[in-house]
Amino acid sequence: MKTRAAPRIRIDLATKKRMSKRDYYQVLGVPRTATEADFKKAYRRLAMKYHPDRNPGDQEAEEKFKEAKEAYETLSDPQKRAIYDQYGHEGLTARGGMGGGFSAADAFSDIFGDVFGDIFGGGRRGGRSQVYRGADLRYDLELDLEQAVFGHTAEIEFASLAECETCSGSGAAPGSKVVTCETCNGIGQVRMQQGFFSVQQTCPRCKGRGQTITTPCDTCLGQGRVRQKRKLSVKVPEGVDTGDRIRLAGEGEIGRNGGPPGDLYVEIHVRDHPIFEREGPHLSCEVPISFVTAALGGSVEVPTLGGSVSLKVPPETQSGRVFRLREQGVKPVRGGPRGDLYCRVVVETPVNLTDEKKALLRKFEETMTSSSRDHSPRERSWLDGVKKFFEGVVSRT
Ligand SMILES: [Zn+2]
Ligand SMILES: [Zn+2]
Repeated sequence: MKTRAAPRIRIDLATKKRMSKRDYYQVLGVPRTATEADFKKAYRRLAMKYHPDRNPGDQEAEEKFKEAKEAYETLSDPQKRAIYDQYGHEGLTARGGMGGGFSAADAFSDIFGDVFGDIFGGGRRGGRSQVYRGADLRYDLELDLEQAVFGHTAEIEFASLAECETCSGSGAAPGSKVVTCETCNGIGQVRMQQGFFSVQQTCPRCKGRGQTITTPCDTCLGQGRVRQKRKLSVKVPEGVDTGDRIRLAGEGEIGRNGGPPGDLYVEIHVRDHPIFEREGPHLSCEVPISFVTAALGGSVEVPTLGGSVSLKVPPETQSGRVFRLREQGVKPVRGGPRGDLYCRVVVETPVNLTDEKKALLRKFEETMTSSSRDHSPRERSWLDGVKKFFEGVVSRT
């Protein structure tokens, strides 16, 4: 789309009849006690409805708009309002009349500038140039579980836009001139007609700087910013977890036209650990034990992140039983008590048995089956369950 200034529309009010003027308060639909804010509100409402940009070719709408504009301009000026209140329309015409012109300054976006400014970005009307905050950056940092749990200082390297050193960010080759932009006269903004209303846009020639460069800097090609590798030392606090983000304020990309830099977000990804699984502040692991230890009880070495500790396994421990070691987990980064370590014992089936050992086991098994006592609580209840299941199947068929 081509950028151009909005067309200047001038309608000479002198050719219109000045009779039958409506009361300005009536035009705006406000009481005589109304404040300036009330006038503004009323005018906006009417302009939204009758603005020529929104009603192309509609004479009546245009008249209504001009009427509202005139009423607003009079009443929002305390001096004119005082005259009007005392002498009516005659008082104002006696003083030389209203300007009455309809110029580009009445364009839709001027009336609604601060409303649409939010949508079209910046809304810095009347400012010297457009400044932009630099972009935020994200860096994905992989950590071992130990580093995440105990804290870590990571050296990271990443590419970012930084100020060009050759031209100190001006974009101009050393010794060359920086001149005021002719397109926007240094404002950094131009008006652009878009359908029925016009919007302010960043000047395409100077990119909002308000200045142009005669000889661009070779290093940054006139951008004032260059992509550079940067190194940073990031202090990762203890207790971080996957998904946590560390914000390094001002370490993002440098801003444009002197705007502030963005931030750098270091996002944490904790690698899987060969022994421990983590769930929030808690850790868990599996501990294999022999079936003899499980039956008779004993002590086993259990790993923790701070070294190994001894876990007392009571006699008759079944496979799958979980033991909790208090405060052997993680201290959460956002505070709160240190988590626990859950150790799940797994009874191992012995392998690589010699004939002698096999014979011993068979003998052992015989003593078990000949005994009247119950040595396998799980097997017993399991068999009972199976029995009931088959009885159910038989009765159903
Ligand atoms: Zn440069
Ligand atoms: Zn410009």
